[in-house]
Amino acid sequence: MEKTVSQYKVHIETFGCQMNEYDTELVRSLLKAKGFAFTEDRECADVVLMNTCAIREHAHNKVYGHLADLKALKRQRKLVVGVLGCMAQSLKKELTETAPIVDVLVGPDSYRRLPDLLERAIATQEKDNGVKGIAVDLSEYETYQDIMPERATGITAWIAVMRGCDNFCTFCVVPYTRGRERSRDPQGIIREAEHLAAQGYKQITLLGQNVNSYRFEDWDFARLITAVADVPGIERVRFTSPHPKDFPPALLDAVAGHPHICKHIHLPLQAGNDRILALMGRTYSRKEYLDLVEDIRRRRADIALTTDIICGFCTETEEEFLDTCRTVQEVGYHAAFIFKYSERKNTIAARKCQDDVSERIKSDRVTRLVDLQKAISLQKNRNMIGQTVQVLVEGDSKRSSDQWMGRTDTNITVVWAKRGSSTGPGDFRPIKISHVPATTLFGDEIPAQVASGHLRQLVG
Ligand code: SAM
Ligand code: SF4
Repeated sequence: MEKTVSQYKVHIETFGCQMNEYDTELVRSLLKAKGFAFTEDRECADVVLMNTCAIREHAHNKVYGHLADLKALKRQRKLVVGVLGCMAQSLKKELTETAPIVDVLVGPDSYRRLPDLLERAIATQEKDNGVKGIAVDLSEYETYQDIMPERATGITAWIAVMRGCDNFCTFCVVPYTRGRERSRDPQGIIREAEHLAAQGYKQITLLGQNVNSYRFEDWDFARLITAVADVPGIERVRFTSPHPKDFPPALLDAVAGHPHICKHIHLPLQAGNDRILALMGRTYSRKEYLDLVEDIRRRRADIALTTDIICGFCTETEEEFLDTCRTVQEVGYHAAFIFKYSERKNTIAARKCQDDVSERIKSDRVTRLVDLQKAISLQKNRNMIGQTVQVLVEGDSKRSSDQWMGRTDTNITVVWAKRGSSTGPGDFRPIKISHVPATTLFGDEIPAQVASGHLRQLVG
């Protein structure tokens, strides 16, 4: 007898950024509404979907590695394979020609078509080899406004406030894979936040490629984040990423002043040298970036800064790379994501600049910058020894079910022993930091009656 849709188990693997994690939640919601079931185990799945990232070569190679495994699995039994997201968008020709095991290709603006395409691929899987469904059109309007993502954690959630990007930084493939920038209706976002609060969620991260350009009628991002932070029950609101070129003073006011907006700003630097910043099309100078950092610090010295940096961009010299190191030292980030430049097809840099820094030099620069950042982070974290921080409990620590793991307002991971207290995921607890072996803070939970005396000392 033929299986019904609800008997088909879907396994989804997600690669890349938070926006992709969020898109996977949207896809789960769309498939669930059509009756599909899910499995965490690829081995017993009828459908394997890979939600892919095209930002760097590394993510791209990982997907090809998984496709090779799936090819072997497909030889042994019936299996429908789908590639979703940015790679489906940017590599449709390559994937249909060189990876004929792919049955369905769906880009980031076409997820609504996925359930039908999967049903069709399932129905024809024995007759046909090769792609059975492609939906990769980019849209100027799609924001999935009416779809409530299928979330899992119960404590922290993402909400995409906009999709696409119009900035065209020369190294970046996002404007080509995710299309034009469009903002969601704020009322839908606030309803989503209220729904999350009613389910017991405590923290929301607002996502967009450049949240500063969020616009919907007379709403800007500062107004939006304040409205979300005002939703009763939502204790912490984060956001990522603002572009340093147009950081609005009203957003800094909101971060500095609103008790539920985290004292943390992720401010991508990309490079600390003016010639490289101009080549990257970032439209700010090193000085403008540092002036913004100074404004932030003057406003509130306890706002933690983190960043993204690319090493070995086209024609970057050693001296220009050292400018980036000096900038990192001067800002003193809490943490940084440091990447090797990876040329992406069709980007402005791929067309107009020469990717002439060798792999060896790129790797060497990444290692040196990572070491520098590690030393800065360690020093900052060690300064917290003896302080009491307010931590949102997320769950067991990775290492042991005898320890809790949570995060400070500034997004630093804290681990502490459970010791039979009534603490649970979703609680806020004061933790006194006792030691800092590397990037994670370790400490002890302060009993409630003692904690009240510590309240004035609470940081992070
Ligand atoms: N919209 C965000 C912004 O402007 O900061 C970033 C989005 S992107 C998904 C995340 C990071 O990936 C970027 O900040 C950049 O550091 C890095 N990235 C993007 N394209 C890259 C490339 N071609 N090679 C290496 N890193 C890249
Ligand atoms: Fe890419 Fe620049 Fe847009 Fe960020 S702002 S997504 S780096 S083009």
